[in-house]
Amino acid sequence: MSAATIAVENTTMGTPAREYQAWNVEAIRSHFAFVHAGRTVTNNAASTQPPRELLTLQHTLVGQYENVHRGQSSASMQTTRCFEAAYDDIARFVGAPSRNSIVAVRNTTEAHNAVMYSLMTEFRDGDNIVTTELEHNSNFVPWFALCNHILPKFRRHAMLRLGRCAPDSGELDLLHPASLIDDRTKLVCCGAVANFLGTKPPISAVRALAAASGYAQPNGERRSYLLVDGAQWVLGNAVDFGCLGADYLSFSFHKMLAPFGVGVLVANERLLESSLPFLYGGKMIGDGQVFADRVGFNALPWKYAAGTPHIIGTIVAAQALRLILDLALQGGQPHYFGSPRDNDRADVAAAMGRVADWNVRLVAQALERLAAIPGLTIYGPREAQRRSPLVAFDAQGHDPLDLARALNEAGGEARAGCHCAALAHRSLGIDASCRLSFYFYNTPAEVDRAVDALAAIVAVGSGALASPRERAHAQTRPRSAATPLHLSPAF
Ligand code: PLP
Repeated sequence: MSAATIAVENTTMGTPAREYQAWNVEAIRSHFAFVHAGRTVTNNAASTQPPRELLTLQHTLVGQYENVHRGQSSASMQTTRCFEAAYDDIARFVGAPSRNSIVAVRNTTEAHNAVMYSLMTEFRDGDNIVTTELEHNSNFVPWFALCNHILPKFRRHAMLRLGRCAPDSGELDLLHPASLIDDRTKLVCCGAVANFLGTKPPISAVRALAAASGYAQPNGERRSYLLVDGAQWVLGNAVDFGCLGADYLSFSFHKMLAPFGVGVLVANERLLESSLPFLYGGKMIGDGQVFADRVGFNALPWKYAAGTPHIIGTIVAAQALRLILDLALQGGQPHYFGSPRDNDRADVAAAMGRVADWNVRLVAQALERLAAIPGLTIYGPREAQRRSPLVAFDAQGHDPLDLARALNEAGGEARAGCHCAALAHRSLGIDASCRLSFYFYNTPAEVDRAVDALAAIVAVGSGALASPRERAHAQTRPRSAATPLHLSPAF
C-alpha cells in the first residue's frame, strides 16, 4: 500500500476490474444502515445516506488524527498525503485537469459564494449577471445580494437578469437568456439539473451564448464566464469538466453518499490563478511571503484553502466517489475504495452511466404510478429521460406539508415546501409542492411503497388546507417577465 492508501478495516484489495458485475441493487443496499432500520428513504435530493464503509473510515482516520501541511510527525505527513490524494481523486472523478482546479468548500452554496467574492472586485458599473428562475436559491440569492446589496455600497451598479422557464414543460426557455446575455454580461449561472422541476437545461447552448457575448474580461478574454450548479447533476451522471467548457462547477458530497460538510468548486485553473481568493489567512499565503507591506499567495490549490480545512471530511468525500464506483460496477466489492489506484475515467463513465440508467428506471416508474392518482398535479416533464430522479407534485385538497407528514407516518419520506426553488414555484404561481426523490440504492418496491402510501392518503379525502394550486387560483395574479423581483425580509 502506498502512503496515500487509507487503511480500511475488513477490506481486502480486489483485483483490477476487467468486467463489471450485473447491477445488483440488493448487494448495493447491504452497505447501508437505513435498510436495516426499515426506512423507505425517498428524499434523496436533499441528502443521500452514508454507507457503512464511510462511517467506519471516519473512525479509522482518527488513528492518524493530525493537521495537514502543519507538522512533521508521521501522522501529519500521512494525513497530508491522504488529503492531497483526495484532491486528485475528486479532480479525476469530474474530469478536471488536476488538483489545481479543485477548491474544497462546505457545500454548493459556499462554492457559489466563493465565486461571488472572488469576482466581486472585477465588476464594472453597468455589468450584469444572468441566471434563471429554475435555480436553487443558492444560485440566485448570492447574485441578488451582489447586485443589490454589495456593489451599490461601492457605487457600482450591476443588474441581475433572470432567464424564464416555460411554465408547462418546466424547460428553460432558451430564447429568453439569449435576449438577456450581452456584452455587459460578466457571468452566466445555470444549474445542470433543476431541483424542483427535475429538468436539465441545455448547458452546451447556454455555454455557446456565454462564449459569444463579447464581454471584455480583465484578462483580455471576450466572453462571459459560466458557472454550472452541479448539485443535482454530479451525483448521478458522468461529468467531464473539460468537455463541459464551464469556468466553474459546484456540487455537494452530502448528495452523493458522503457525510455532511464538504462540497467542491471545480474551476478553470487560469481563473483561479488570476482571481482573488475569497478567504484570507494561514496557508493560502506562500511560505516566506508575508511581509508588513505585502503578501504573496500560495500555489494552487492551496491559495483557496485558507485555515485548517475539513480534513477528515474531504478524505471521506473522495472515498465516497471511489465507493460509488465499486457499488455501481461491482455491487460493492472493493476495487477502488481504500485503494491507491487512480480511478479510471472509463470506469467513472461506466459507473455513472449505470447509476443514471437505474435512476431513470425509478423515476419512470414513479411518474407512471403518480400519474394514475386522481387529483395529483405533477410538475415538470413526464418523460423520465428528460428529468432527474425526483418528482414534485401537489394533490387537490391537500397542503403539501400535511401530505409529507402523512407520508412519513405511512412509512414514506418526502420533502414539502419550495425546496429552495422559490423562483420556479413563484413562476408557476404556487408557494409549495411535495417531492419524492430517488437514488441508486432505491428499489422499484420502494417507489411503489411511497406511491401506494401517497395514493391512500389522497384517496382518504381533502386535507384541512387547500393545495398550492387552489390557493393560487384564489389569488390569480398576472405574471410578467419584466416584473421586478423584491425579496421580502423573510426570504
Ligand atoms: N443547487 C441545487 C440544484 C440543489 O439542489 C441544492 C440543494 O438541494 C443546492 C444547490 C445547495 O446545496 P447545499 O445545501 O449543499 O449548499
